[in-house]
Amino acid sequence: MAIPGNVSKLISEQITKEWYSAYLYMSMAGYFEIESLPGMAHWMQIQAQEELAHGLILQRHLAADRGVQPVLGAIEAPPKTFKSVLEAFEMAYAHELTVTASIHNIMDNAIKTNDHATRMMLGWFIDEQVEEEKSVSEVVAMLKRIKGNEALLLPLDAKLATRIFTLPLQLAKAGA
Ligand code: MG
Repeated sequence: MAIPGNVSKLISEQITKEWYSAYLYMSMAGYFEIESLPGMAHWMQIQAQEELAHGLILQRHLAADRGVQPVLGAIEAPPKTFKSVLEAFEMAYAHELTVTASIHNIMDNAIKTNDHATRMMLGWFIDEQVEEEKSVSEVVAMLKRIKGNEALLLPLDAKLATRIFTLPLQLAKAGA
């Protein structure tokens, strides 16, 4: 089934956005390493792996499933300085809100053009964004509660060190 031109363009742009997200979170991981918060660095590295997987799911849908060459854009440099741990996580949360809006925009276009295949594929991303926003906002809430108290920051860091990467089912099925 042919994919509408505007939808394939938006999916290509989304692949670049997902991989930029990975780049952004790796920059934050570097900051947490410097700050001696290895659990938070690990959490951000897992987050980056998830973003790479998101881009891969979109690329496979476009190229392997729909026969369209993805048009990948330039990935800009992410911020390299962060004022505080709280600021980094607040920045991550604000970023996820923009990603949610971007995915909703693709869904709006898929609905308008009766592109049901894209609509079904994107359903998972809509759910995933609910999870992404929730997990980052939980960390922001905890950081606000402990208000820079170093003694309380360390147990939070230890908690975030336990995050594991789970390959999304779409990629597991395809033998990635
Ligand atoms: Mg993502």
